Amino acid sequence: MNAPYPWQARQWQDLLRLSDRDRLGHALLFSGREGVGVADLALTFAHRTLCEGPSPDVRPCGKCRGCTLYQAGNHPDLKILAPVEEGKAIVIDQVRELAGFYALKSHYGRAKIVFICPADAMNPAAANALLKVLEEPPPGALLMLAAHRFSAISMTIRSRCIRVPCEQVDITMALPWLAKELPNFSPAALTRVLRQAGGAPLTARAIANSDRSELDSEIEAAFAGIQQGRTHALLQAKQFADVSLAELLRVLISLISRLILAKFGCRSIYDPADEPLEPGLQGLSDHLNLKHLYALLDLLFESKLLLSRQSGLREADIAEALWLGLGRASGRQGK
Ligand SMILES: [Zn+2]
Repeated sequence: MNAPYPWQARQWQDLLRLSDRDRLGHALLFSGREGVGVADLALTFAHRTLCEGPSPDVRPCGKCRGCTLYQAGNHPDLKILAPVEEGKAIVIDQVRELAGFYALKSHYGRAKIVFICPADAMNPAAANALLKVLEEPPPGALLMLAAHRFSAISMTIRSRCIRVPCEQVDITMALPWLAKELPNFSPAALTRVLRQAGGAPLTARAIANSDRSELDSEIEAAFAGIQQGRTHALLQAKQFADVSLAELLRVLISLISRLILAKFGCRSIYDPADEPLEPGLQGLSDHLNLKHLYALLDLLFESKLLLSRQSGLREADIAEALWLGLGRASGRQGK
């Protein structure tokens, strides 16, 4: 793990300052979208807090008892709460386990840390149970919550945490980092993959390493084909049936957002490219009007909500309905 990443230097310094002045309080809420390293930053700070090295000024020493236990994944003063299965909720029974964890004193005299990730995956009952812990924090407790959707964390929980916002990524720091991670990529290819990732560097690295960087262009082409009446939505639903819905939504939300911004002659602050649209997409932008683009964006966010709520619907069914929705919404021309 390389956190703190270059674009997290300010957050890291803030955390060290709070820690050195004994002002951390009992709860920290790290927030930021996926792929910017929110959980990595929180975990590295947890590691640093557990380090017993002579002067863990900057990073954990990596050699002491605390570091050895942390690296082996069995430090007795660190408990991790995560969904039992990826994409599922963190449930109340998991939060109740904290009572047992906090019943014991710290083994090595440092904070007893609970790391909850993603904190926005707690269901309402779990969040309520956590609130009780936050209202009367046990001595020595340090709860670290990492959330991708800050808005999904209740006001009552937020108000009891020190917030560590990690949303913004300075592209001028992300690009050199990505260049080191992907030494075989040309500057143009780095820019392209970072744009595909919506400016999230870890997502960009994952896309590049998974050899799926062509997938974005293929989905974009399919979307353009549907909008311009050159292909049928159901055909495309079949062609991309093996692509996860999360991936599909990531590509399409990024594309539609860029098309909307391009209508205003702007681009996202996370967009590393100079031009808002690739030349091939200009025709599509001219073809679609703003009202239509916003309707498409609504459709995508509805699907995203269905996916995140674990509504019991099959992912494949949501994806097919989405493709059909994109098809139905097609053909409205004008500027
Ligand atoms: Zn150490």
